[in-house]
Amino acid sequence: VKLILVSQGRGRSHCITLGLWAKALITLCALGLPCSVAALVFLQYSAAGVGFWQGFSQSAWVDAQVERERQARGAHIDAQNKINALAVRVAELQARLVRLDALGERISTNAKLDPEEFDFSQPPALGGPQAEVAGQSYSASELNAMLEQLTAKIDERQHKLESLGDWIADQRITRDAVITGAPVNIGWLSSGFGRRTDPFSGRLEMHEGVDFSGPEGSDVMAVASGLVTYSADKTGYGNLVEINHGNGFKTRYGHCKENLVKVGDVVKKGQVIALLGNTGRSTGPHVHFEVYKNGRVVDPASYIRNTVP
Ligand SMILES: [Zn+2]
Repeated sequence: VKLILVSQGRGRSHCITLGLWAKALITLCALGLPCSVAALVFLQYSAAGVGFWQGFSQSAWVDAQVERERQARGAHIDAQNKINALAVRVAELQARLVRLDALGERISTNAKLDPEEFDFSQPPALGGPQAEVAGQSYSASELNAMLEQLTAKIDERQHKLESLGDWIADQRITRDAVITGAPVNIGWLSSGFGRRTDPFSGRLEMHEGVDFSGPEGSDVMAVASGLVTYSADKTGYGNLVEINHGNGFKTRYGHCKENLVKVGDVVKKGQVIALLGNTGRSTGPHVHFEVYKNGRVVDPASYIRNTVP
């Protein structure tokens, strides 16, 4: 193979004889150019060239991507569930605050307190859980703000109720607030205070009050004036009324057929607060009567004996 080079103008020509290596080089160049162009075109049209490389491990890549998305979705649902649980907690606190307000208002009304000093009638500033129910979820920062507001309000109410308690205790330490007598007119002391064989378990257990048996539906009376602090069903006690008499004294009346007073009521000594019954852990109609002094249960016997003039 010979390559003839002709120079323009002068009409002269050179003759070059190509060796084996030169021929191979030229052939490579001639084939290489179209190959490079084809490769470039391919890369250009296959999703900016990336898809070309992804093609090698297409299925593995898709799996990894799906897994990542699934995890991200899971984490998001987790976070939203936690926020929703917090929102429920906020709603519960709000409900408690409303009840606390109602209690405070009842007490201050019953005790005829200065409404300026004990204003429990302000409506709660926050809405209930309705927004959540309607499908709108709270954000973490909204919840934090709500929790802070609620904490402040509960602190304030607690302070007001404590002041109220002190005030009532001061005002009502009269003869009437001193625990005397039995909580029943008709009836008899059927079980004393202290260790006894439990009628249910058969074991020796502490009986933290005294029992007065009597006709079902007969009167259960407050043994001293005070403030009703509990009036509802309580495990074991059945229908229970609890009265705070101030000065560290508190009495409880259990197993009632029906409670006739509400939390926040101010009751007088001898007032009928419930009907004698057989509710809760009880083997027959009786009232289980407890006396607490500074938070500790005491034997009511000496207080009951005070009756006798
Ligand atoms: Zn009892």
